[in-house]
Amino acid sequence: MSRFLSPKLKGLLPYTPGEQPKEGGFIKLNTNESPYPPSPAVIEALEGKAETLRLYPDPECRELNSAIADAFGLDTDEVITGNGSDELLAFIFQAFCSKGAAFPDITYGFYKVWAQLYGINTRVLPLKDDFSICLDDYTDIDETIFIANPNAPTGLALPASDIIALAKNKADRLIVVDEAYVDFGAESCVPYIKELDNLIVVQTFSKSRNLAGGRVAFAAANSELINDLNRVKFSFHPYNLNRLSQLAGAAAVKDREYFESCTSRIIKTRERTAKELKALGFILTDSKANFIFARHEEISGEEIYNKLRERGVLVRYFGTDRIKDYVRITVGSDDEMDALINSVKDILGRQENA
Ligand code: PMP
Repeated sequence: MSRFLSPKLKGLLPYTPGEQPKEGGFIKLNTNESPYPPSPAVIEALEGKAETLRLYPDPECRELNSAIADAFGLDTDEVITGNGSDELLAFIFQAFCSKGAAFPDITYGFYKVWAQLYGINTRVLPLKDDFSICLDDYTDIDETIFIANPNAPTGLALPASDIIALAKNKADRLIVVDEAYVDFGAESCVPYIKELDNLIVVQTFSKSRNLAGGRVAFAAANSELINDLNRVKFSFHPYNLNRLSQLAGAAAVKDREYFESCTSRIIKTRERTAKELKALGFILTDSKANFIFARHEEISGEEIYNKLRERGVLVRYFGTDRIKDYVRITVGSDDEMDALINSVKDILGRQENA
């Protein structure tokens, strides 16, 4: 820490992203990326476009925003795009949390970091023992509510109607739904932004649209809320999405068929891997995301993480209080899941002799 650091940042505990190993050879199941490449339409859209990097990108991201609006039945003034949903969520924390922020104790770990960064008071509400969220806890509170649906890292999803009922319950309180994983089996709240002016839905292209490296995401909300977010964006970084990402995002969202084939493959792989892990003594949540959240009766989460790592399989271990027995395993390709299962059998000493 230098002596120049602002005193208010001295106690800040930054977010720790999942490991991105420099050396190859790992089966990487630790950061919920897609095992599949971007849509062929994305590859085509980027071809020969490197030379356009001489010029600044469109600060209003018009083509991308209108492709997203078309795909979701929205007006363009109901959409803002961001450099990943991390950027949009940071804008939301800055713009809309003057009464504080409320979220579960087990959820996306970045929420508490943004709250700390921007000096926002937090109300952290414990999930139930089975990791489900008790929405009654949120009914009367005034803070802006952040709900990841499906939740991370538990994978548990709420029906959209429960979230909408909560939003309707208190019109002067804002609900932010983080739908990073919604395309793997949960129900989106995007259609409801037309009728509710206290609802923001954030989606990312990092998981279900295979563009984690492209950093593309959007928020959908009533046009006044989007205007407010643009106020923050244009006071911080007007050119927040580079040219190539804008092109990639527009091509990705237009290719519905490819998106559906990738997400349905991942769901299928998740379900069969879940079954195989259960047969090996794992206890799993009912994940509707592109990851599995699991613990084993006999081995600790830390040991599973370390032993898988020794065998070249990287999963995510959080090691925090209520989830220290668990590992989060990204759903990869079928081959990657076979390798995972084989490593698990080896760790458990259940490898059949060939
Ligand atoms: N929300 C949740 C719940 C996440 O797990 C992630 C991924 N780390 C994000 C948001 C951010 O994703 P991105 O910035 O890649 O859009």
